[in-house]
Amino acid sequence: MKKVAVLGSTGSIGLQTLEVARTNLDITITALAAGSNIKQLESQIREFHPKVVCVFDEERAKELRVRTADCSVRIVSGMDGLIECAVYEETEIVVTAVVGMIGIRPTIAAIRAGKDIALANKETLVTAGHIIMPLVKECGVRLLPVDSEHSAIFQALNGERAQDLYRIWLTASGGPFRGRKREELVDVRVEDALKHPNWAMGRKITIDSATMVNKGLEVMEATWLFGVEAEQIQVVVQPQSIVHSMVEYLDGSVIAQLGTPDMKLPIQYALFYPQRRDLPGRRLDFLTLGSITFEKPDTDTFRGLTLAYEAIRMGGSMPTVYNAANERAVALFLAGKIGFLTITELIEEAMRAHRPVTNPDIREILNIEQDTYDFIEKTCHYRKERE
Ligand code: NDP
Ligand code: MG
Repeated sequence: MKKVAVLGSTGSIGLQTLEVARTNLDITITALAAGSNIKQLESQIREFHPKVVCVFDEERAKELRVRTADCSVRIVSGMDGLIECAVYEETEIVVTAVVGMIGIRPTIAAIRAGKDIALANKETLVTAGHIIMPLVKECGVRLLPVDSEHSAIFQALNGERAQDLYRIWLTASGGPFRGRKREELVDVRVEDALKHPNWAMGRKITIDSATMVNKGLEVMEATWLFGVEAEQIQVVVQPQSIVHSMVEYLDGSVIAQLGTPDMKLPIQYALFYPQRRDLPGRRLDFLTLGSITFEKPDTDTFRGLTLAYEAIRMGGSMPTVYNAANERAVALFLAGKIGFLTITELIEEAMRAHRPVTNPDIREILNIEQDTYDFIEKTCHYRKERE
């Protein structure tokens, strides 16, 4: 039996993880966690019988306790509850599929408790990679990427020597606004930005894909996961999302991982690594596939990527500011309070206003996160007043 905890079980990655659990009968779900969606959690409890479930929202946790009084499950809440789910003793592997920096503390707690991690929550590695990577080594656990590009790179690195790596080609779909220029993005609506051409994902990451901040976060994620410099990572647009990323070696040989755009593949691969299993669903058919194309990313229009490389160069706490500013700006965009281009403008302003702290500890990271949120709110307020 594979004993799995899913943090963020009601979201896009969480639901697909449970779909993988449905088709692999040797998976037992030990713990689940979500923000507030208790309707979904109740049905998951009845289907998968986890031992402990966290609803971050205290009031909703109380409601769920009443609704599941006939089930033998412990319902917990808040950050303590989330951490309890992350470290639950029977669990072997924790799928971190919560969205945003909220994932930092439970991920660290799970590693300390000796759990393997299937990491979807890239924001955690972006902000606390310098703490997490040494801890993974110290605790002797596995950190397996769920992000499709990183899973592809991980697969392309299989059996190769790290010193033979020349460059990573990190693929990007280009998002819904690929090919547009800045002036064509001034008035885009939330609905347009949420229409991703290839992937059905949560709202935040879908907006991140449209701004290419997602790719920026992924460059940061890759530097930590694979121990490479940002300069060794080249982003390339691959509009069909078939080539999930590639590794180029010293001799010029390039190894890629290809597949249909289906997150269940990297999720299942992370859960059973190094074993491969049958995965129901559409497969690639090269007889009918047609063409796979590549393009240079437009970094003038999509500043999210340029700013990410800058944040990596400045180092220390700057990636935290990049990430936190983005989290808050995306929330404001989704709430209809700011325009699309303002997202990356705000990230840039927050970065300009920040003096990076070297080697921040968790407390400093969380403080900088809060300061950045406050900065974004204040800046938006002033901008509104000026209008
Ligand atoms: P969703 O928005 O679809 O889901 C987010 C999940 O996190 C939900 O279950 C939500 O619960 C839960 N959550 C939110 N806040 C809290 C909280 N305070 N405590 C506990 N749980 C909370 O996001 P995605 O599934 O799209 O993305 C999850 C992560 O995976 C992100 O970091 C993203 O970047 C990454 N990722 C996603 C991919 C995808 O295809 N979707 C691909 C690669 C990476 P509730 O429903 O109750 O709000
Ligand atoms: Mg990705």
